[in-house]
Amino acid sequence: MKKALLDGKKLVRADDYTEAPKGELSCEDERCSAPMEFRKEYWAGGNVAHYSAAFVSKDVKEHRPDCWAHDAPKYRNQAYESIGKAIVGAGPIEINLNCELVKESLRGHFPRRGTVSARTVDDLLSYFRRIEQDGGDAALERTVIKWREMSIPLKEFFIDDNQDQYRDLFKRMIANPKAHEPPYLIRFNPTKNTHENKDSPINGTPVKLPQPDGKSLILLEKLVTPEFDGVLRTHNSYVVAIPRLNRETTGRKMKELESVANDQAVFIALEWKILGSYQFTPAEEPAPHPTQTKSAPRQKPFEPKP
Ligand SMILES: [Zn+2]
Repeated sequence: MKKALLDGKKLVRADDYTEAPKGELSCEDERCSAPMEFRKEYWAGGNVAHYSAAFVSKDVKEHRPDCWAHDAPKYRNQAYESIGKAIVGAGPIEINLNCELVKESLRGHFPRRGTVSARTVDDLLSYFRRIEQDGGDAALERTVIKWREMSIPLKEFFIDDNQDQYRDLFKRMIANPKAHEPPYLIRFNPTKNTHENKDSPINGTPVKLPQPDGKSLILLEKLVTPEFDGVLRTHNSYVVAIPRLNRETTGRKMKELESVANDQAVFIALEWKILGSYQFTPAEEPAPHPTQTKSAPRQKPFEPKP
């Protein structure tokens, strides 16, 4: 496995890990707690086989029967098969968002052709890459995310630093404050202060939405997460989370926007609530190791065309 929990709450990545830290490593599935250990990268048989750094189970039998982390490759292969069939077909390619936001069984089953379940953000990203690779833009266009009773087109679901998507989301939330927003996949970029000051809230790079008369509305993103804040502070991450605005403050700020002078900005807090470590994954690849030139090229993060 490429990730593990340190002392049960801090997500650490094998590529960033050094043995010096100190603490108990356990399975990435925080419900599981199977003990893990770190395996450094190494070359075997002279220069024949390269093994990248990883976390390995001390005893695979210690994982829960429904652990989503240690059987991920098998699970994804099943999903790829279904996706392959769906790409060839003409109907929608459906991905059920089973992250525990929904109180459904986490176990994957494939109720009908073309529908797969995602248990983690890594699952989602790997499915999107696969769809893009094998079906191109046309297949991405047919991809929808199912969440409760909702079907969310991929181009709405994945808000990738896209100002127009933030604007649409904000408009919807203002127009319909009581509606329950579905989760979205965002790329969260922590601020420098978040990175450096581990006691600060987890703030994201502000999103500027230009308004008439040179005014601007600036969304201050903040991640709300009970404890899994390890890599979220230090890495840009893909996060599945539900957005939330404080209605009272936002209402006041919107009035303020009308009355401020031209060229002024009004700041509004936008919270993103995530519940567990399976709902985020670091977006940036670590710098390639000098000895890694012989291994397979690293997979690019999923990047849909604009
Ligand atoms: Zn496990």
